[in-house]
This record gives sequence, structure tokens and C-alpha cells, in this order.
Amino acid sequence: MEINLISDTVTKPTPDMLSFMMNAKVGDDVFGQDPTVNELQDKTARLFGKEAALFFPSGTMANQSAIKLHTNPGEQLICDKWAHVFNYEGGGASFNSGVSCALIDGTRGMFKAEQVEKLIHDPNNIHIPVTSLVTLENTTNKGGGGVWDINEIKNIKKVCSQYHLPFHLDGARLFNALTVTGETPKQYGELFDTISICLSKGLGAPVGSLLLGSHKHINKALRIRKLFGGNMRQIGYLAAAGIYALDNNVERLKEDHRKAKVLGEVLNSSPLIKKVEQIETNIVIFYVNDNVDENEFVNKLVEKNILLISMGEGKLRMVTHLDFTDEMLDKTISEIKNLKLLV
Ligand SMILES: *Cc1c(COP(=O)(O)O)cnc(C)c1O
Repeated sequence: MEINLISDTVTKPTPDMLSFMMNAKVGDDVFGQDPTVNELQDKTARLFGKEAALFFPSGTMANQSAIKLHTNPGEQLICDKWAHVFNYEGGGASFNSGVSCALIDGTRGMFKAEQVEKLIHDPNNIHIPVTSLVTLENTTNKGGGGVWDINEIKNIKKVCSQYHLPFHLDGARLFNALTVTGETPKQYGELFDTISICLSKGLGAPVGSLLLGSHKHINKALRIRKLFGGNMRQIGYLAAAGIYALDNNVERLKEDHRKAKVLGEVLNSSPLIKKVEQIETNIVIFYVNDNVDENEFVNKLVEKNILLISMGEGKLRMVTHLDFTDEMLDKTISEIKNLKLLV
């Protein structure tokens, strides 16, 4: 039995999801004729109270399209120093949109409205880049699955409105956040101009992301998706997986969060571990003791068929998900307790 805690993207479609996919009605989506894609887009737009939604092959392309539709080359966006759009999209903001990033020194990937306001440039000063977009991430990936306080987001929204700046949410794991707070997708739809969500993270679909926004923004995104080479044909089979995921796999995210907390407690009581970061959702970030070799720690678990990743400098990560069963949790707990390293 392999236990893969590398990411919540490692899940495989269940037989039920696969049969739902196989029964999808499809058409050529480049001509707007795939009924299942249209259904998924309409369903998600309604869920968030947005006018329109567009299906994308990846969260990266959805975010990059959002950046492109809100900005012009030479301008600047504001994000946290740990933001996915800055750190993990291959430098796409500069390559695809020709924009730079003004980085906020946040806490676990989250920040305050005052910090945003300080970075907004005077548009009349020709020496400095024009600020044209503010983005944030919920939950925060590098921040260990951190969940935002919606009141702080409302404060940031006020700053954006005051300076006429568009506001984008990288909501790759937004459903994890909503599961914790009990807030609704519509509350987020009201706050942001555009929102990206991933169906292939905690929700268990094999592929797919959506970008949500106004008709005007999504029409622009359609052109940009074409430009990026992201147009696809009979992808109703994949959109069906997304519909299935939204209907069946949102409620159960709390299970992943429960398991992550249990893992955190076990790690906390291990003499090999220095610190476990606060666990709010399905991401567990922890640090081995100074006298413990993190690679040895990872390799010992890999020998027991338990996979996790090292993020460098003694920092390790485990992510719980749909395919991580109670039986796997028990095995992981006992292997962590039994770990013997040369220290
Ligand atoms: C995973 C992720 C994305 C998108 O990643 P893809 O692998 O391109 O789907 C975007 N933002 C965050 C915060 C993520 O965790």
C-alpha cells in the first residue's frame, strides 16, 4: 500500500467519477458546443454569483489569464511574497503579461489592507510602474493551508475600490477555506473581480480549473486562453469530472482537515520534530530537529511507502486528500512513532 502525501493533486478518479465522465455528452468546445463544459461553467458561475466562468486545463493558466486580462506590459501587480502566482508559475507574470510583482511581507501568505495601500503607486509618477492588480490566495499554499479572515479581505477590497484596482483571488483551494469558515462561494463572488478555482486539488478531479468573472472579463479570458494555446475540443469528459467533484467531494473536505490535525498531533509528540505549523486545513508543514537530517527522515518514510516532500531548510510537508484513507492514517501514525534515525 503506497501512501502518497506529496500533494492533494495525486488523487485518482474513483469508479463512480469515471463512469459519470464516460457518460458525458460532448461537442467541440472551441465552438462553444460542448454541453457538459457549458453546464460546468454555468453551474460554477451561479454558485459564485458571477456572470460567467471559463474552463481551463490548469490553475496556472487560469491565474495567468486573469493577470493578463487585468494588466498591460510594464505595469505591476501586488501579491504576497509567498504567492503561487509569483513563486510557482514559472515566472509567467513577467513572461506572459510583462508585469512585475510588488511583494508584501505577509504572515503565512496573508496580509493586511494597510500593507496593500503602501505599495500602490502614484499613477502620475512616470518613474515607477503603474499598479494595476491586487491578488491574494485562499487557502495559502506556501503558508501551509492558511485560511483568511474575510473581514481583512473586505478591508483590502475597500482599498482596491478606492484606487480603482481590480482584485483577483487565487482560489485553488478556496473550498478548503469555505469548509472551515462556513462562508459561501457567493460571499467571495461579491468581493473579487475574478476568481480561479481548481477541481484537481482537494476535489479529486483528474484535471481542470475555472476562472470566474463578469461577461466582459470572461470574454477577454476566452481570447487569452486561445492565445495561450489552452483551447480544447471534446473536453466534456473532463468537465463531467468537475461537475461530479463539485456535487460529491466538497462536503467531505472536513475529513481531510481532521486527518491533517491528527498527523500534526503525532508529529508534535515525536522527539525528531522541532515544530509543526498551525494546521487549519489539509496541509501539514513541520520542521525536523536541528540534529536530524531531513533527507534521512523523508527516506525512512519512503522506505515504508509513505511519500512526502522536503521544502528545504529542514521544512517538510504532508498534504491529506480524498485517497488518504483511515487505514493509511493509522499506518502513517505508527510509522512516524516507530521512526528511528541516526542522530
Ligand atoms: C495548485 C495551485 C495553483 C494552480 O496549479 P496548477 O498545477 O497549474 O493547476 C494555483 N495556485 C495555488 C495556490 C495552487 O496551490
